[in-house]
Amino acid sequence: MRVLITGGAGFIGSHLCDRFLAEGHEVIAMDNLLTGSKQNIAHLAGHERFQFIEHNVSEPIQLDTPVDFVLHFASPASPIDYLKFPIETMKVGAYGTFNTLEIAKQYGARYLLASTSEVYGDPLEHPQKETYAGNVSTIGPRSVYDEAKRFAEAMTMSYHREYGVDTRIVRIFNTYGPRMRLDDGRVVPNFIGQALRGEPLTVYGDGKQTRCFQYVDDLLEGVFRLLNADYHEPVNIGTTHEISVLEFAEIVNEIANNAAGIVMMPNKRIEGDPQTRKPDTRLAHELLGWSPKVALVDGLAKTLNYFREVL
Ligand code: UDP
Repeated sequence: MRVLITGGAGFIGSHLCDRFLAEGHEVIAMDNLLTGSKQNIAHLAGHERFQFIEHNVSEPIQLDTPVDFVLHFASPASPIDYLKFPIETMKVGAYGTFNTLEIAKQYGARYLLASTSEVYGDPLEHPQKETYAGNVSTIGPRSVYDEAKRFAEAMTMSYHREYGVDTRIVRIFNTYGPRMRLDDGRVVPNFIGQALRGEPLTVYGDGKQTRCFQYVDDLLEGVFRLLNADYHEPVNIGTTHEISVLEFAEIVNEIANNAAGIVMMPNKRIEGDPQTRKPDTRLAHELLGWSPKVALVDGLAKTLNYFREVL
């Protein structure tokens, strides 16, 4: 099988390239390197089943070969990145989704959209089930990402209903692991970077806001299973192990052996920083037999080793 992976030089996209190659497939990675990096796929250079195309998927795509799968993972994904690139973020969710769906339609390829827990906004339902419609501002600063992904889901379902394209939608919850960018502003690279430099970890607000952190390998397994299932509506993939940001900071300090502690900082983050976030993953469990396997301390230890090398 030949697979097109947009965002193939990004954090999750590059791991997907590895996984598809390991399964014996041919991979075309497409990325404009806005937030992705060639470094993430440097080890694949020269691989006979791997090809990299530097291209912005928001512009029309012309492939010179048919593909069997299209996975649309291109987008700035950290709050700092999508605030820096608001128009690019909206375009890749809109035009990028349109262009990649057109490719899937043209070749009769199976299509998978990377959506996000951000479609639930600052959720009023806890945990969040796929049926929850979300609490999202249409005009707030985060809307550039949230609404782009909501539009992308709507577009994907439309191509499925209107043209019968064989689509999948995965709603990805907080995911971490090697190849995250140290300066992307998210809590995992921030805390690990600070811990490795022996600095105090910057906890925003009272630190009581919660997240569930899944290791990238668990996400990849979920994406793979969903791709092979016959189901077209969105599926949450994430862990249900919910912890506060403060607890998370303590765990990182312990694993990294960082004695510098924690500093509480006013939450200067953009409005709409969700207070809680936790997936209801019963659907993934029932439909895919999927459940996350990697314990937080183990995933963090691997991620720490990666960042140690980067630094
Ligand atoms: N956060 C923090 N310190 C940091 C970076 C982030 O306390 O240095 C908090 C942030 O306010 C948010 C949580 O950690 O409540 C997760 O932030 P992240 O950017 O990783 O992802 P989000 O889930 O908000 O998209």
